[in-house]
Amino acid sequence: MTARRNSDNARGSNKTTYSTLSIIIGALFGALLGMGVWIIATYSSSHRVQPDIASVPPCADVSTAIQPQVTTKPTASVKPNQQPSQSKSTAGAASSQLIGPVPTPKRSLVICVDPGHPSEVSSGKTVQNGLQEVVINWNVAAYLIQNLQASGYSVICTKTHCEETVTNKRRAEIANQNGASLLIRLHCDTGSGSGYTLYYPDRQGKKNEKVGPSALVIKSSYVAADAIHRGMTAAMKGDLKDNGVKGDSATKIGGRQGALTGAIYSDVPAVTVEMVFLSNRADADFIRAETGQQRMASALAAGIAQ
Ligand SMILES: [Zn+2]
Repeated sequence: MTARRNSDNARGSNKTTYSTLSIIIGALFGALLGMGVWIIATYSSSHRVQPDIASVPPCADVSTAIQPQVTTKPTASVKPNQQPSQSKSTAGAASSQLIGPVPTPKRSLVICVDPGHPSEVSSGKTVQNGLQEVVINWNVAAYLIQNLQASGYSVICTKTHCEETVTNKRRAEIANQNGASLLIRLHCDTGSGSGYTLYYPDRQGKKNEKVGPSALVIKSSYVAADAIHRGMTAAMKGDLKDNGVKGDSATKIGGRQGALTGAIYSDVPAVTVEMVFLSNRADADFIRAETGQQRMASALAAGIAQ
């Protein structure tokens, strides 16, 4: 009996020890859990990834710049993509320099300027180094249009405002319908590289049963890309890395389709300019500045004049 009692006492004592241990372990576990939750909450609040949209530069107000001029060879089907705007706003980065008499066209060449995005492929609104591609494309396009108009070109634009979504097929159709001599498509690259690259359709591609562009457009697109490249290189004076002229087939979409969609549907020479790599800090800083956007536009204009 004594032995059993002792044994019972020992069991009872063990039970007490176990329950005490359970409480201590439970308390420790609870404390650790609480600490973990606190650490995660603190970390995520201080490291939350949220694009600071307020600091992203807005689209320039360039309504005056993008009024289409009447093309020199209008056809019945010509429908310029813009309606003349009555806006005389002076707000925005570029507008103040764009107001004034529109020069009389001295040349018969029609240039179709295509600020890339938003399209069926992408909005172009991803924030990289504080910039959105759609905005940079638009702002440089505004300066380019201003430059080209000052040189006497007739200019049409594929978009009426920065946010307007236009399919890549439609962009080419606007150039075709206005009898453009050149469709110049402005984009910004992303990835590990830096600098500017010019692309032209180096072979036919296929998109939704449409095969194109023609052999003549392939040849003339190369001639245009090569000329624009030479003019740009001279104007940029090495301030951005020069990646040269490449075929559309070297791009991700062009590699899959044979050519970029805008080129497949184009009946006129089509050149896509990836102006900078927005993912590259130095490139982004260059193009963030109004002076950088203006330099890019005048480099493009110098290239087009070649
Ligand atoms: Zn783009």
